[in-house]
Amino acid sequence: MSAEFTRPESIEAAVEALGEAGDEGKLIAGGTALALMLRQRLIAPAVLISLDGIQRLTGVSSSADDIRIGAMTRLRQVEASPEVRRAIPALAAACGEVGNVRVRNQATLGGNLAEADYASDPPTVLLALDASVRAVSPAGERQIRLSDFFQGFYTTALGSGEILTEILIPRRPGTRRTAYAKYRSRSSEDRPCVGVAAVAAFEDGVCSELGVAVGAACETPRRIADVEALAVGQPLGESVIRDIAEGYADGIETLEDLRGSSWYRTEMIRVFVRRALEEVASVGR
Ligand SMILES: Cc1cc2nc3c(=O)[nH]c(=O)nc-3n(C[C@H](O)[C@H](O)[C@H](O)COP(=O)(O)OP(=O)(O)OC[C@H]3O[C@@H](n4cnc5c(N)ncnc54)[C@H](O)[C@@H]3O)c2cc1C
Repeated sequence: MSAEFTRPESIEAAVEALGEAGDEGKLIAGGTALALMLRQRLIAPAVLISLDGIQRLTGVSSSADDIRIGAMTRLRQVEASPEVRRAIPALAAACGEVGNVRVRNQATLGGNLAEADYASDPPTVLLALDASVRAVSPAGERQIRLSDFFQGFYTTALGSGEILTEILIPRRPGTRRTAYAKYRSRSSEDRPCVGVAAVAAFEDGVCSELGVAVGAACETPRRIADVEALAVGQPLGESVIRDIAEGYADGIETLEDLRGSSWYRTEMIRVFVRRALEEVASVGR
């Protein structure tokens, strides 16, 4: 049975179409994940609602408070955005490390987050940046912190009638340094075996704020606040970096899949947390 295809031109019309279709409806953004699910017959929606015709969902904008990225912005656009490259280069890097350029030209940032595949790159950086998403439904609009958004394997806080419209990355006073270290264990275009994002602010050579997120190691990207706090108030030197890498390796119960065993992932967390921190520390000195 073939699905009905609809392409609304406003967020309101998309919300309405999704509400009307109920459990039979499925949103389609870039289609890179959805097309595989359809082809493998994992899902068989009666109505496909494309978000491709909604202009307002695409683009990067910037204010004194935050950087906003529309859910339909392609990963390639995020990677190439001058604003993202200048203010949050790790996000440009993470988007630039997804699959290959054909995938990135099609895949959207909103689709990547909504898919919630544990082996993804952009969510790790966005979590370290304290980002939120905005979602709309017939009940109205709400903002969800990324720390509350990912709830498990392929599971998010989005309700069935909700559309993710925007990603908001708060600005912080002073200069932030960001890094993303991706480790692939199989091929140069693969998803991560482990991905680590580090976001740090320094005042007079002392670390005033640190965010570290580890992705692809367990069901959802993880931060460990107690371990991050080890860096605050001191220079990000060798022994602090080692303690934080140990803290993350010990603190995450790693999963096992074709990209690596649980033991191997733990070892890679140790290495890649250190590398990401060394990168932000070397620019911060
Ligand atoms: C060959 C290949 C290699 C890849 N490599 C990587 C990699 O290295 N790293 C990585 O992170 N990812 C990788 N991916 C995954 C890719 O990044 C995601 O498939 C993509 O970002 C999903 O975005 P999309 O716009 O194509 O979403 P779609 O496929 O259109 O949708 C994905 C899911 O999200 C839902 N959805 C989409 N948009 C919204 C919205 N605005 N609101 C609510 N729900 C929505 C859809 O209903 C669907 O369930 C790879 C994919 C492929 C095909």
